[in-house]
Amino acid sequence: MPAYTEPNIDAHLSVKPADEIKTTTCYMCACRCGIRVFMKDGKVRYIEGNRDHPVNRGVLCGKGSAGIMQHYSPARLRAPLLRVGERGSGDFKEISWDEALGLATQWLGEVRQKDPRKLAFFTGRDQSQSLTGWWAMMYGTPNFAAHGGFCSVNMAAAGMYTFGGSFWEFGDTDWDHTRYFMLFGVAEDHASNPIKIALGKLKQRGVKIVAVNPVRTGYSAIADEWIGIKPGTDGLFAAALIRELLRTEQIDVGYLVRYTNAPWLVIRDPGAPDDGLIARDGNGNPLAFDTAANALASALGPDLEPALSGTFTLADGRQAVPVFQLLAERFMADDYMPEAVAKATGVPAEAIRRIAAELAHAAFKEEVVLDIPWTDWTGRRHDQMIGRPVGMHAMRGISAHANGFHTCRILHILQILLGSIDCPGGFRYKTPYPKLAPPFLKPRGKPGDVQAGKPLPGPHLGFPTGPDDLLVDAAGAPQRIDKAFSWDAPFSAHGLMHTVIANAAKGDPYPIDVLFLYMANMGWNSSMNPPATLAHLTDKDPATGAYKIPKVIYSDAYFSETVPYADLILPDTTYLERWDCISLLDRPISEPDGPADAIRQPVVAPDRDVRAFQDVLLDLGARLGLPGMVKEDGTPKFPGGYPDYIVNHERRPGIGPLAGYRGKSGGDYAKGDPNPRQLEQYIAGGCFHIHHLPAHMRYFKHANRDYISWAVDKGFRITTTPVIFQLYSEPMQKMRLAARGHGAVVPPEQHRARIETYFDPLPFWYPPFEDGFGGEADFPINAITQRPMAMYHSWGSQNAWLRQIHGSNRLYMNRARALALGIADDEWVWITSRIGRVKAQIKHMEGVNPDTVWTWNAIGKRAGAWGLDQDAPEATRGFLLNHLIAELLPEQAGGYRYSNSDPVTGQAAWYDLKVRVERAADQETGITSPRFETLIAPPSSPSPHFSWGEGKQGARR
Ligand code: SF4
Repeated sequence: MPAYTEPNIDAHLSVKPADEIKTTTCYMCACRCGIRVFMKDGKVRYIEGNRDHPVNRGVLCGKGSAGIMQHYSPARLRAPLLRVGERGSGDFKEISWDEALGLATQWLGEVRQKDPRKLAFFTGRDQSQSLTGWWAMMYGTPNFAAHGGFCSVNMAAAGMYTFGGSFWEFGDTDWDHTRYFMLFGVAEDHASNPIKIALGKLKQRGVKIVAVNPVRTGYSAIADEWIGIKPGTDGLFAAALIRELLRTEQIDVGYLVRYTNAPWLVIRDPGAPDDGLIARDGNGNPLAFDTAANALASALGPDLEPALSGTFTLADGRQAVPVFQLLAERFMADDYMPEAVAKATGVPAEAIRRIAAELAHAAFKEEVVLDIPWTDWTGRRHDQMIGRPVGMHAMRGISAHANGFHTCRILHILQILLGSIDCPGGFRYKTPYPKLAPPFLKPRGKPGDVQAGKPLPGPHLGFPTGPDDLLVDAAGAPQRIDKAFSWDAPFSAHGLMHTVIANAAKGDPYPIDVLFLYMANMGWNSSMNPPATLAHLTDKDPATGAYKIPKVIYSDAYFSETVPYADLILPDTTYLERWDCISLLDRPISEPDGPADAIRQPVVAPDRDVRAFQDVLLDLGARLGLPGMVKEDGTPKFPGGYPDYIVNHERRPGIGPLAGYRGKSGGDYAKGDPNPRQLEQYIAGGCFHIHHLPAHMRYFKHANRDYISWAVDKGFRITTTPVIFQLYSEPMQKMRLAARGHGAVVPPEQHRARIETYFDPLPFWYPPFEDGFGGEADFPINAITQRPMAMYHSWGSQNAWLRQIHGSNRLYMNRARALALGIADDEWVWITSRIGRVKAQIKHMEGVNPDTVWTWNAIGKRAGAWGLDQDAPEATRGFLLNHLIAELLPEQAGGYRYSNSDPVTGQAAWYDLKVRVERAADQETGITSPRFETLIAPPSSPSPHFSWGEGKQGARR
């Protein structure tokens, strides 16, 4: 028998998919999922989700997969650029990094030695604010913030002032235990994969999902019930739910007594300087009336049986009432009856009553009990963890209104009345939250804080608790270029980036010399009224011919609409080319069961003359000799750039950007010496680190003694004081008293009525400001944007794959409303607001509130930008509603104009827009309007046509 021989088969049964696979963190949106990047022949070939990662557990969305096209985009900037023509002309020359950094150092150095206020440094959706904020603090300017003021600061600030937390990075629903889930004002953003995974879990368990949103797309489309509410009325709807719960006595009274200021006594003494403040004992403790002892007592006593209603006499003979009584009086008002709010909200009274009953049923009839003993801050032992399983999530849709702060507070009070904060089935904090409500941190930047050549004595952003904390001078004038923490917006915890360019051009409150922006498309979709913004960037002083904003430095990875309006461009890398740190000092990726942080590592080296902005910032800091960035001999402290900083920087002794693998050998958590192998150990662990809390610390973190002690020990908190939920906000009442003329710091006359009205210590609903301008007859329709699932703001527009999903956008209108206006499907219309008009094509749909039109956010592009063909559909059939959004409110008596923002926090009121919609004439159809001059791409920009992989050429038309 012949010997067996192997058949001569020369076939590839499996093609090797990669030469190397590297883990890192996605940056195609702000969720920061873990990814595995497949590299072959030195190129990025494939991206998949990291199954071990706590954020996404292997799930990858379309945006994340398309990161490849973000990385290879022809819109990538290629080298530092210096403007040689007029601003806006796009006339640049390429320069070396030495020249670029030398010039930036000269500009920034002159300002620092003269007057650091003359630098305004603002960053967009970057994820390194603990570095950028620290850099600005060491530089000494008071003018720093990131994009929060035009994103969702109302949500964050209202949460921090009420219960020391908020949604998204601050906390999440207990997805495994919740029995009823409500989403307010969330489309497909904030967050993406984590919420999709969570909604899948809820669907599997048959949990009812109720979506409150004027538009039924995305998450609302898979909800069991869609409440197509009228924009800006969510607070009214939530207030009516509260009224129903109070009326039917379905609230968790024990929870209110244990964890909130419901029993605290409020002084009632009209006209007195302490009217409306909390009555306190000689030690500063809040007072309550103890019904067991029939006497006043410290409200912090553990075994109190406090009164929640009644009028009580204080030691000085004055009267006081419990917070809960004031709250009940507020929400039991007829204004919040379901029948009274039905017309304004568009939600029928019976639906409001039914949803209130469903919430109560889930909270009290389906309570979740975990047999986990724990100890509260008073030392009381609890055998079980008892939960009210109602989950809620809310974001920009309720936040981006002039009434957003109070609306968000109403929503949190609804959660608290149900007893559903940090309990099984409810909302759960993510470490380092909760903080105190509000946190200790105060903004710095008062007149004495800013000195030539010196750092600022503390961080820029914080939480004022009274007029003394505001950044105003003796005359009450703002000290920051964006007027944050002034009487215009006293609790502006994230600054007001949307006001910076207009204020700087007008020299109001003072002129600046250098505007330094990072990754914020302020020349287009990140501005209200972009034409006015571009005019401000090109305004010249008629006497000197010089630009009113003399120098603009901009860093971005891509050729956005903002690039041509800067003088010096510092080109950034893509997210696959650099180190990054997703830090617990900043915006971490923690889970409710434990704190987590992460890194990005470069998976590929840049093929252009670009540098990571964080490296550049540290380099500039060293050249400027900023404290903390140079050694005693003047040499750079972090010669290895950002990775060197990530490992070796200590914000406080033992506390640095990363919490994992600290200490010389990497064995410490959160506190410990710098570890030279820390990045190596993160990479070995998949580029993230999660610390798992023991079961008894996982809930009731606001009052959980063991959790609080651990958090203090690890540096996440600075005190063992428990977090007591503030149904009634004393800091707001202090502002109100100032408006009545009490105290050393009082608002100038022109601001007093506004402060008196909007600094109500109990939340209330008022109509969005735009409702009052122009009248219902002129502008009867609300206009809003939704972020599409496939794009993260304008980031996706240069992405060859994602733009095939959203290359142009329509104005979506309720079919019946459109037909009533004589507008057929696909017709072209003019959309007119009080400041301008935009032309677009209509699309009819059923799933939208009849009084509302909407479109996808940031799809419209200026011709020539983002490496697209000049006649790309984004430019010819895409449009922005931004052109219709006024950056200022109309003149007050006396001529002053406030920004178009929430009066409490300064949150940009994007979603207050009111318009009318009319058919365009036949000869006007086919192309969107307004049109802007085509932008000229920078030198060396590649063709908008490009090829990728081994396939065909990709055309970007
Ligand atoms: S959800 Fe965001 S971070 Fe996660 S994969 Fe998608 S784009 Fe990336």
